[in-house]
Amino acid sequence: MKLKINPLFVLLLLIPAFVGCSSKPQPAAKYIFLFIGDGMGAPQVGVTESYLSYLEGKQGGEKLTFSAFPVYGVADSYSADAIITDSSAAGTAIASGTKTCNGMVGVAEDGETYVNSFAVNLKQDYGYKVGILSSVPVNHATPASFYGHDRSRGNYYAITTQIPESGFDFFGGSGFIEYSGPHGDDDSEVFLEENGYTVVFGQQEFEKEYEPGKKIVMISNPVEEHRGNTPNYAKQTDTLVTLARMMENCLEVLGDREPFFVMCEGGEIDWECHGHNTMGMVNSIINMDEAIKVAYEFYLKHPKQTLIVVTADHETGGVTLGNQGHFPKWKRIAAGEDDGNNGIGWTTHGHTGNPVPVFAVGRNSGKFTGHYDNTDISRKLLGLE
Ligand SMILES: [Zn+2]
Repeated sequence: MKLKINPLFVLLLLIPAFVGCSSKPQPAAKYIFLFIGDGMGAPQVGVTESYLSYLEGKQGGEKLTFSAFPVYGVADSYSADAIITDSSAAGTAIASGTKTCNGMVGVAEDGETYVNSFAVNLKQDYGYKVGILSSVPVNHATPASFYGHDRSRGNYYAITTQIPESGFDFFGGSGFIEYSGPHGDDDSEVFLEENGYTVVFGQQEFEKEYEPGKKIVMISNPVEEHRGNTPNYAKQTDTLVTLARMMENCLEVLGDREPFFVMCEGGEIDWECHGHNTMGMVNSIINMDEAIKVAYEFYLKHPKQTLIVVTADHETGGVTLGNQGHFPKWKRIAAGEDDGNNGIGWTTHGHTGNPVPVFAVGRNSGKFTGHYDNTDISRKLLGLE
């Protein structure tokens, strides 16, 4: 006699595993988006809103998608060994809830003990699918904090080789730093393809190669020469896949049947701020906001099950809207006449220790009001507080 198993019966057996254990903390939402604007302090957001208001002929009041979110909070950003953090220590604090030293990624301050990102918890303990996106290389500090472990963020190739261990479903970025590895290693593409990932360069390749079930590493730059060492800084061009398009691809891969978590970094905001490039900073924040719009449209379709959180790892440049009593001169700035005397103040070419803003909308977004530490973010998302 053949034993027939009704699929509905199997489903009924599985349900208690999800809803039955009331003692197990529940993640904040079925679908979680976390955006990190690298170097995007509250003043960066304010300067961008001022530019948007200028475009509308107003003194102020225009908002980005995320700055119009109903929930606003503030997070402290200091690292284990410094008042002013770098991206890897802040990324690790946000991802794992553990403060570490500047320069370290995915390890505790002893430089040895691995700390896991909450994305790993969500995947292993709750079956979440995971996407990790950035406008800069996939092995750069912020995305690396969600899957990598190294006492030095500069060991780029070693960090790339940790991608397969994560088992995450989608990675996106502008390329790889140390594409070929420092010791005659396999090219990153070869290594990843041998370890279960399909690596695609540009939108056409994604559309040609993607099939459901494939794990994808997507490089936004389709240009052949970028199979070699990708420049650190991929400027937005006609051929470069935008962060918003990358988000659409990621959502296609993740689907909406199973729960998911997506981290998406606006990585070049930091670089523009290091260079005191006001329009570059504004455009890179708008670039990330376009990806946030894609997430927001998803939220509108699943409002009860979706949470979007937007924050930063630290502030860069010490920017101010107004400088020594001078008002911003948007006409000149927008025309590219950025001569440093245009009413935008910068106090440093490095990072600052300013706290960072947190914007949120959706399920359990109320947890993100108030003033807390960046290490609290992962606990809020995991439902531990
Ligand atoms: Zn940073």
